[in-house]
Amino acid sequence: MIGTGFGGSAIARRLAGRARVLVLEKGRRWDPESFRQSLDPRYLNEVFDLYPGCGTGIVTGSGVGGGSLIYSMVSLRAPSAAFDWTDRAGLRFWPDEFSRASLDSLYEKVEREIGVTQLEWVRPPAPEDAWKTVSARDIVFARGLAAIGRSCDALPLALSGCRDCGFCTVGCRFGAKQSLDRTYLARAEAEGAEIRPRVRVERIGTAPGGGYRARYMDLDGGDRRVVEAPLLVVAAGAMGTAGLLLDALRHKTLPRLSGQAGRNLSLNGDLALGGYVPDHTTEEFHGKIDGSITYAWWDRDFTLQCVRLPIAVLAGDSTPFPIPDAEGRRWGMAYKERMRDLPRHLLPIGVLGRDDAEGVVRLAPDGTPYVNFRPSARTRGMWKESIDASREIVERGLGGKLLPTAPETHGLLGTVHPLGTARIADGPHRGVVGPDCEAFGHPGLFVVDGAAVPGPIGVNTSLTIAAVAERASGFLLERLTA
Ligand SMILES: Cc1cc2nc3c(=O)[nH]c(=O)nc-3n(C[C@H](O)[C@H](O)[C@H](O)COP(=O)(O)OP(=O)(O)OC[C@H]3O[C@@H](n4cnc5c(N)ncnc54)[C@H](O)[C@@H]3O)c2cc1C
Repeated sequence: MIGTGFGGSAIARRLAGRARVLVLEKGRRWDPESFRQSLDPRYLNEVFDLYPGCGTGIVTGSGVGGGSLIYSMVSLRAPSAAFDWTDRAGLRFWPDEFSRASLDSLYEKVEREIGVTQLEWVRPPAPEDAWKTVSARDIVFARGLAAIGRSCDALPLALSGCRDCGFCTVGCRFGAKQSLDRTYLARAEAEGAEIRPRVRVERIGTAPGGGYRARYMDLDGGDRRVVEAPLLVVAAGAMGTAGLLLDALRHKTLPRLSGQAGRNLSLNGDLALGGYVPDHTTEEFHGKIDGSITYAWWDRDFTLQCVRLPIAVLAGDSTPFPIPDAEGRRWGMAYKERMRDLPRHLLPIGVLGRDDAEGVVRLAPDGTPYVNFRPSARTRGMWKESIDASREIVERGLGGKLLPTAPETHGLLGTVHPLGTARIADGPHRGVVGPDCEAFGHPGLFVVDGAAVPGPIGVNTSLTIAAVAERASGFLLERLTA
């Protein structure tokens, strides 16, 4: 297996003890004490992978546990209607085998494995449960929504105990985050799975005697090795997997692989917005990263979440910071005072929605995957509506001001929820793997991660990736027996 994110970990757990499982992971092992509460780029470089591109950039997590090490822990099931979303050609992203009802028992299984807790709006009576409360920011968000007659829900998080330090997305130093290394992977290792960290797989292909081979580099020693196995599970995340499959197409090491590899990249409609509101929304580094969501515009194909984003992200590249003082000035004491108090008045909003999966991943000459994303008119329309909805919450609901948005200022987007680069489909003309996650033309080769999820789902992606992996594990076990 390659990769220890939500797809890889679920498979490792289900196969451990039934087969010899070897998992190759390029990131290191982290324990809570090794995380730092720091935004130092040298540190961020260790916990994140950045994939550059045209029109967007993609951020993912790296380490034993993949994105779970640095994610915001939001653990949502995809709404039923997301399984019926169609692409520009009017074709459903998901094959008929998939629906919310068919995945519900698997979602439940994942929720149990990773210990999901529902946040509460008011402080629970028992002091030991106080950490379950949403942040002050979420209350402001919900009040803004209520003022315009819209609903808001508190989120379920994979969390147990929390000090509200606000550093969830650089790794939890207190071990409160229920990341995969503490849940799925710990159990897989207890059952005998071997995880080999700090090894980067460079090439995959068929093995001369049957089965598959992976050539990898030991990132500490610099040695290159090859491992062969009858079954190979690629779970390196939507970008990592795309890189490996595109390399295999380039070097013809998987001769029957679908040419759809690297296409159909969805950003899951991600867009970061933010408002400046009169209420105190709390300091920048305090509270949970995400605490609440509104489905009020679900009929327009998007959800909005109250998130915590660094000011730098919200400000985009518009410097000086685009909020003038009451006289329209960006200088002077009043402006400086306002800037000092700024983090307490920020209301960041995350959009997740239906795009057209119009992104393409290509390989640079040195083999690095990069992204090209030119939003379709339909995707731009969805974003425009989400900006209008956010403006309504911030300005009409809360008397604040929506900050200039990325599409308006510099057109650059970013996502943390890439999907679909080796998508599940009913044939190789539309995707790379079948509904059981096995590659068309290559029996025994599986893709089980965000790459396999066939289209946007409009909410956070981890739970759906793991549920699809739980489903695929049944087929993998059948293959093993065969
Ligand atoms: C800041 C942030 C916050 C997020 N918050 C949430 C949230 O609250 N809720 C939610 O549902 N989702 C969230 N996500 C998204 C979520 O983390 C991803 O959807 C999920 O982790 C994807 O799982 P995956 O199995 O596709 O791969 P990943 O989790 O990306 O794991 C892939 C693993 O493969 C390894 N790998 C890649 N290439 C190679 C190679 N060549 N050789 C060996 N190993 C390799 C990587 O190091 C990585 O560990 C967030 C993401 C980010 C970045």
